[in-house]
Amino acid sequence: TVIVATRTFGKYSEEPVKLLEKNGFTLLRPEYLDENILKRADAIILGTGKLSGEMIRHSSIKIIARHGVGVDNVDLKTATELGIPVTITPNANTVSVAELTIALILALSRRLIDSYREISEKKFSPVTGIEIFGKTLGIIGFGAIGRETSKRAICLGMKVLACDPYVEKNIIERHSVEAVDLETLLKNSDFVSLHVPLTQSTKHMIGKEQLKMMKKSAFLINTSRGGIVDERALVEALKEGYISGAALDAFEQEPLPEDSILYDCPNLVLTPHAGAHTYEAIYKMNMMSAQAVVDFFDG
Ligand code: NAD
Repeated sequence: TVIVATRTFGKYSEEPVKLLEKNGFTLLRPEYLDENILKRADAIILGTGKLSGEMIRHSSIKIIARHGVGVDNVDLKTATELGIPVTITPNANTVSVAELTIALILALSRRLIDSYREISEKKFSPVTGIEIFGKTLGIIGFGAIGRETSKRAICLGMKVLACDPYVEKNIIERHSVEAVDLETLLKNSDFVSLHVPLTQSTKHMIGKEQLKMMKKSAFLINTSRGGIVDERALVEALKEGYISGAALDAFEQEPLPEDSILYDCPNLVLTPHAGAHTYEAIYKMNMMSAQAVVDFFDG
């Protein structure tokens, strides 16, 4: 029995469901994850919902197949202690997230949301934006998504800086990107884009101090995880004009609470954790997570 705890599994293609069924698995699609359901299954295909140590301990789950790449929602310590493997779907959504990042950079540079708001109010007055050609993009976290984003930005005529202490300088430079430290990146970029995992060391790595280091004309984009940006500090930065604008696809609390301070914030573009939401990425994440479950029980 496999718990499917992600809404997009099998939504656009029957193939991943058939792959599991053909291998003898029964699928459970609970509304919520509770102890009762977790005791009835051998595996879980997990979206962005939280799987705490307590939940893992009181389950009969033998494999956690994460539908995506970030594992900040899984208590890895408990899973490791119990010998439960946690798999991810590497690269399945890399291009999709990189493309959303570029879309958000352009939405900010051309003030697309403001522009739409004007015309939807039947005002035919163009909003003035900036060109991204010749501007500098600073990428924090030069992993799979950071690299794909850098390639696309270079094609659009941007200069790219990257900060990633775990990637060798020559690897960064091979991508025609300049390797710099965080402070240099923040001070010199017109757009700063986050592509790091959420860990103890990246939590709130962009707070008031870092936002103040950025150019007043700069924009911040976060398509990685909420919690990496201190949301309170960001709202203050946008209201006080420390930076020009921001776009967020991930939030400290998801779904974004109805009373979130982010809704009324100026110059802020929001998307509802849509980075991996393309037919292509969903298909790949579906198939890879289903295959991980099949392979595990095949030994
Ligand atoms: P990845 O593991 O390939 O790359 C992450 C990079 O961050 C690594 O190169 C690592 O060295 C670097 N890093 C870690 N700590 C750092 C720090 N303190 N400073 C600078 N760099 C640091 O992962 P990826 O596939 O590129 O994904 C990046 C993140 O994007 C994921 O962890 C996930 O949280 C997020 N993501 C979001 C969506 C979405 O729907 N919006 C979809 C997929 C992934």
